[in-house]
Amino acid sequence: TDRLVSPSNQFEDNDIEMGLRPRKLNEYIGQQKAKETISIFIEAARQRVEALDHVLLFGPPGLGKTTLSNIIANEMGVNIRTTSGPAIERQGDLAAILTNLSPGDVLFIDEIHRLSRAVEEILYPAMEDFALDIVLGKGPGARSIRLDLPKFTLIGATTRAGMLASPLRDRFGIISRLEFYSTEDLTKIVTRAAQILNVSIEAKGAEEIARRSRGTPRVANRLLKRVRDYAQVRAEGDITLDVSINALEFFEVDPLGLDHTDRRLLRAVIEKFNGGPVGLDTIAAATSEEPDTVEDVLEPFLMQLGFLARTPRGRIVTPQAYRHLGLPVKETPLE
Ligand code: ADP
Repeated sequence: TDRLVSPSNQFEDNDIEMGLRPRKLNEYIGQQKAKETISIFIEAARQRVEALDHVLLFGPPGLGKTTLSNIIANEMGVNIRTTSGPAIERQGDLAAILTNLSPGDVLFIDEIHRLSRAVEEILYPAMEDFALDIVLGKGPGARSIRLDLPKFTLIGATTRAGMLASPLRDRFGIISRLEFYSTEDLTKIVTRAAQILNVSIEAKGAEEIARRSRGTPRVANRLLKRVRDYAQVRAEGDITLDVSINALEFFEVDPLGLDHTDRRLLRAVIEKFNGGPVGLDTIAAATSEEPDTVEDVLEPFLMQLGFLARTPRGRIVTPQAYRHLGLPVKETPLE
């Protein structure tokens, strides 16, 4: 998508090149719980001079799963090899990656819920016994040999932990859920990024960008860059509160961070389905989005705001959303 507020990685984000991606745990803002858990395990593994246990990170896109994985490798002083579920098509692809790891290395698999069953099957003994079972030949003469692998750390990232087969999930020793960030934490992220980008920004200006960033650092960094452009061309270059508000209004990001795509989804449910309940596939069809996009990208933030709710019979738009859109609140019969 080309949405300014999309939480998905976009080519022009360039956070790594611009030095915005934190490299140390103490530069990683917020996510107190996940950070504490991970730092304890890192410390313990380092003291025992062992590879860190396998880590599963889950949460919506743009919250810092890839960043945290890189930090873990960095803090452990090991190399990281990055791939993704859809990129590993055949068992041989994974076997090639695994046999090239050095002891202690981190293997990061993004979108791990999209691994095929066949690939998952060779991942299990690799995770558990650090062994690779290879079948030689076909038919009655086939035999299997076992190769030893170095002890490595698998870090899996997924938007939905519920999508993971339980035998896979059970093989992770550390499971951490990343949460949407508070405005306070996002203000720190925007302020830090502004320093790195050498942009002058007022505290209130940073806070306004943070408030409209949908709890998502990736969105915060992107909005900061666009507001910077606006400040440079339409103002004196400094990001004041007024400049932030005017810029974000110009880019059609509303005070809660909603854009036209969010409003379109809410309006579709309200206008075509009387506010719901309505099924995921129906919402997807009514908004011309993929069901996966609706579920992974659009819904989590609307649910976090309390604008959309899941009921056993489908999704409903809540009275808060009607009020935010300036529509008369639908009379709902008491459940
Ligand atoms: P995910 O893998 O969950 O989609 P990323 O790790 O790619 O998210 O994060 C997107 C960007 O947001 C990073 O490149 C980084 O610039 C920024 N970011 C994420 N988490 C943090 C954080 N805790 N502190 C500061 N910046 C962060």
